[in-house]
Amino acid sequence: MTTKLFINGEWTSATGGSIATLNPATEEILDDVGFASTVDVDAAVDAARAAFNSTAWRDLLPVARARLLFRLADLIEAHADELAELETRDQGQPLGVSRTISVAGAAEHFRYYAGWVTKIEGRTSPISFPDTHHYTRREPIGVCALITPWNFPLMILAWKLAPALATGNTVVIKPAEQTPLTAIRLVELAAEAGFPAGVVNLVTGDGSTGQALVDHPHVDKVSFTGSTAVGRSIVAGSAASNLKKITLELGGKAPSIITADADIDAAVGGNLAGGMLNSGQVCAAYTRFYVNKKREAEFVEKMAAGVSGMKLGAGMDPATQLGPLVSQRHLDHVERMVTVGRAEGAELVTGGSRSGDVGYFFQPTVFAGVRDDMAIATDEVFGPVLSIMSYDDDDDLQDLINRANDTDYGLAATVWTKDLEKAHRLANGIRAGAIFVNMPPVPDMAAPWGGFKTSGWGNEMGPYSIDAYTQVKGVWMHYGN
Ligand code: NAD
Repeated sequence: MTTKLFINGEWTSATGGSIATLNPATEEILDDVGFASTVDVDAAVDAARAAFNSTAWRDLLPVARARLLFRLADLIEAHADELAELETRDQGQPLGVSRTISVAGAAEHFRYYAGWVTKIEGRTSPISFPDTHHYTRREPIGVCALITPWNFPLMILAWKLAPALATGNTVVIKPAEQTPLTAIRLVELAAEAGFPAGVVNLVTGDGSTGQALVDHPHVDKVSFTGSTAVGRSIVAGSAASNLKKITLELGGKAPSIITADADIDAAVGGNLAGGMLNSGQVCAAYTRFYVNKKREAEFVEKMAAGVSGMKLGAGMDPATQLGPLVSQRHLDHVERMVTVGRAEGAELVTGGSRSGDVGYFFQPTVFAGVRDDMAIATDEVFGPVLSIMSYDDDDDLQDLINRANDTDYGLAATVWTKDLEKAHRLANGIRAGAIFVNMPPVPDMAAPWGGFKTSGWGNEMGPYSIDAYTQVKGVWMHYGN
């Protein structure tokens, strides 16, 4: 089954062969999945196009569409343990994370957008034209390519699939090649929920499969979460073809500011959670820390003690707090970044190396004495590596804001302070899509998620996803002579 692609309601063989997916904790092959060629991508897009035009989907009443989404949420919950274990085996995240964040988050997402289906409204427009009524409709965009990364495979797919279906689009899903298994299972559950054939299609494969979707003239929208480099290539590729609509959720390098009056123990707890969740493989992970000099020594010591106490291991072990990195390639990248950090003169306080010979484990790592221009302070590591810097004066918030903003990214930021005025001034000044004051970075389906600068285009979640998956039509109705 898993080497097949889901096209037009059927599991069909991939013409591009297969591709192996590994368990990053053991390096064993978990499964082989289909490798979709451009022929398969064409077939999937054709199926999605036909379903989009079909009355079975287009004329389905909102209550019936909502019911399908509610049913899918229930099925995710009914298979929660199975999905959580599959995610942990394929991606590496601790079982507690896959249960409470990935699977529970996915189910709630479908439920939230099921609720939206019957609340997507248009407006009447006060046009200055005699005897004419004008109203707007929010209509689906069409065939949407949903291209997802490997860090939270199920949850991030739910962020896209739930609103895309709630608004009446049809989709072709392309999960990351490292972690396709929960997407495959989700598609099986969507079929069981009763979505008509062709509404949900899935092509597995690598970047070339994603590229074929981006280039496809009959894809109307690409919703992509992944690296900024690929995001840029999507803009270039799609701009050259049919001007498809694009939503991009890209990389990040979130700053964390800890002021002199902060509750350091709370800041350490929250920053460990924010920096080490999923072994730092989080786009909003807290990675560069600006601590008031008066609290620097205490913060560095407590952060180092905190990470050193974390239990590294296979995600299936209930005691594990930090799982492996997703792949050998990613482990190599994190190792390289740490080597560069040391070479540039940062002080390695703890960690800094691979852990064990089997599995892609990397020790949780803290650097102190980091300068703003070092690669570990500017580039996305996407691993368990924290870079601590300091600042002199709480009264010069503008300097701090400038340093926090001295990056091409702008996804998330955090501030740790007891001073409400500082919190507001920093929250207003930092250029990022989500600012967390005295708390770790948490997504919630009711709150917008999106990046400033090179962290993305557009927003997901809340009503923003309804906008992202619909287009506005204005209807002019002349009733005079
Ligand atoms: P990636 O860009 O390498 O791959 C993401 C997806 O795009 C995969 O499915 C891949 O096969 C596909 N792809 C690769 N090349 C493509 C191409 N040329 N055209 C179309 N599709 C292509 O990213 P990744 O390594 O899987 O994920 C890590 C990155 O994702 C990090 O930079 C991280 O910050 C970012 N991310 C962002 C968010 C967010 O919400 N902003 C969330 C999670 C991850």
